[in-house]
Amino acid sequence: MAKTSQDPKRDYRTSTTLIIILLGCGLIVVLFLIMQKISLIRMNNEVLKDQNEIIVTLNDKKANILNDLNRYEGIQTSIDKIKKEYFIDAHTLEQMIINEETDVKIAYLTFDDGPYLLTAKFLDVLEEYEILGTFFTLGKSLDLYEDIYWRIVDSGHSLANHTYTHDLSKTGIYTSETKFIDDLLRQHDFIQKNFNVNTNLLRFPGGSVMTKRFSSSFKEKIRDLGYGYIDWNVSSGDGGGPVQSPNALRNNVLNTVYNKKIICVLMHDYSYNTYLALPDIIEGLQAKGFIFLPLFYESTMIKK
Ligand SMILES: [Zn+2]
Repeated sequence: MAKTSQDPKRDYRTSTTLIIILLGCGLIVVLFLIMQKISLIRMNNEVLKDQNEIIVTLNDKKANILNDLNRYEGIQTSIDKIKKEYFIDAHTLEQMIINEETDVKIAYLTFDDGPYLLTAKFLDVLEEYEILGTFFTLGKSLDLYEDIYWRIVDSGHSLANHTYTHDLSKTGIYTSETKFIDDLLRQHDFIQKNFNVNTNLLRFPGGSVMTKRFSSSFKEKIRDLGYGYIDWNVSSGDGGGPVQSPNALRNNVLNTVYNKKIICVLMHDYSYNTYLALPDIIEGLQAKGFIFLPLFYESTMIKK
């Protein structure tokens, strides 16, 4: 039809708009499904609406979504299914961004080294802004932190692996490949056994630069274990050195985004000043056109 049209530009625009509307609708519905299931309600994704020229209110979709949810058997199955679909759509969105087919930008907010008791406050902020992030966790005391691990999982954030001990000493995880992998798998089992999450996301303590001392086949070993890894392309600067003010941390993030369309922001949930800066960081990124997603294995940002 397009070939015989008298106005191919218009047909192209119509097709593109249709595709964008379909993808946009799919993404919003799936986002809403997740929010429903994990008690994050009232998703109101203004940015996607604006960018994709679609006006689909959540209320309009509510009846259909509830019907769909009722069809699923078992909450875990439905969450897994929803997340899978959600990540497929998120991956599609990444491709659209890379191909410059949309003005939407994606920010992956990541929090390392937790959980801590302070993590609860980070979760409060993310909940307030209805944002899902990624927590690269260590193996901590269940007596102290079990509830916080669970809150991360139940809220729909990605619970990811940052090794069990994070031991950077001379006898620590980077002493040998075997030692590193043992520590990685120890944390994998810890997360799976206690929180029923089969994570495949890794952030190397200190960043992947720390693995330079290992053999060239080391990354393949990580991949063969089913893992992908990610560093960061924006840092809050809260990970060491002198303590910086909330305003400085905010500026570290917002002033180093430049023209990046997909960003992975490094933060630490032990930093009280990062907690204080988080609302400003979120609002600043929103003002730049970013939406926030939790990391997933298929993401173009995850190295395999
Ligand atoms: Zn770390």
